[in-house]
Amino acid sequence: MSSEKQYEDQPPPYPDGSQPGPMQPQSLMPPGPVPAPQAAPAHQVNVMPGPVCVQSTVCYGEYSMAIQCPHCHNTVNTRITHQTGLLTWLVAGGIFLVGGFLGCCLIPFCVDFCLDVVHSCPNCNQQLGVYQRLH
Ligand SMILES: [Zn+2]
Repeated sequence: MSSEKQYEDQPPPYPDGSQPGPMQPQSLMPPGPVPAPQAAPAHQVNVMPGPVCVQSTVCYGEYSMAIQCPHCHNTVNTRITHQTGLLTWLVAGGIFLVGGFLGCCLIPFCVDFCLDVVHSCPNCNQQLGVYQRLH
């Protein structure tokens, strides 16, 4: 209806001869390669590392264990000693915060289950590994 009438009223897109504006060198560009619709990007699944024992292949526990010493290559039962670890300080800090008077804060440093366990070789006295309460 009205749209057709408007179309007729409009001047032709290219008036004869004199066309204002710069000449385009290569007429019309072809539509160009349409980028193929990319398939859904393969969602990369982050491989979650399973429970892996870090540090060498030996999991050190809380108690002495039989192990082949990597230093002297003897099969020995590890000698365990205790040292203050992160948990020790956390417990000490916890006691301090709840109002433990001086002295109670030192309890964790004497309690084995608050201490990290250091495994060492009784044969060559090399430290083999540490069992940490908190990682
Ligand atoms: Zn050893």
